[in-house]
Amino acid sequence: MYEIYCVEDEGNIRDLIVYTLGVTGFEARGLHDGKALDEALSDPEKCLPDLILLDIMLPGEDGISILHRLKEDARYRTIPIIMLTARGAEYDKVQALDLGADDYVTKPFGMMELVSRIKAVLRRASSYSKDDTVRFGRLEISEKKRSVLADGEQIVLTNKEFELLNLLVRSSGIVMTRDQLLDAIWGHDFSGESRTLDVHIATLRQKLGNAGEMIETIRGVGYRLREN
Ligand code: CA
Repeated sequence: MYEIYCVEDEGNIRDLIVYTLGVTGFEARGLHDGKALDEALSDPEKCLPDLILLDIMLPGEDGISILHRLKEDARYRTIPIIMLTARGAEYDKVQALDLGADDYVTKPFGMMELVSRIKAVLRRASSYSKDDTVRFGRLEISEKKRSVLADGEQIVLTNKEFELLNLLVRSSGIVMTRDQLLDAIWGHDFSGESRTLDVHIATLRQKLGNAGEMIETIRGVGYRLREN
């Protein structure tokens, strides 16, 4: 079931949207501002939503700024976003699309119009992400969605952690030397300590839980991902 977050400060609109989505086969969660959204997104117990409805006029941080932040963040970049805009706010619409919003609906909108826009965006997002998912042992990783599942659980990784794991998955079974990994993830000019690599491996193992055992240390050489 698709889960949708609705960020809207006006309680009656938010409740109506959450209610409508609920009866049309979605799981919906209402959030009243950007802070509440941040808390919901960073909850380690929860998967990321499949789509976010984001109002522009919000108390505190406005929707455009929240959109900008989400699209800059590798963890959230690929979550489709539909903006809720005020009538006549053309500049907001253009800016939202430029910043990577998938669509917008102008207030006041009909609930069935909103539902059909949501379905269209979800269809596009799922066909976009098709065939990109790689499964290896207990891991499932998608580069486009930048998502990682370990034993079916969504794992939140930083950019570098994701790149490192992605590389290990895609070279599965083959030993990657420390230099190869450092070069590929941090670049040839990396002037930091090679301990950085070990620190990232340690965090990865920890975040992956039991699946973390798949990362094998090849002493004095590098790392390899094992299937079991
Ligand atoms: Ca509002």
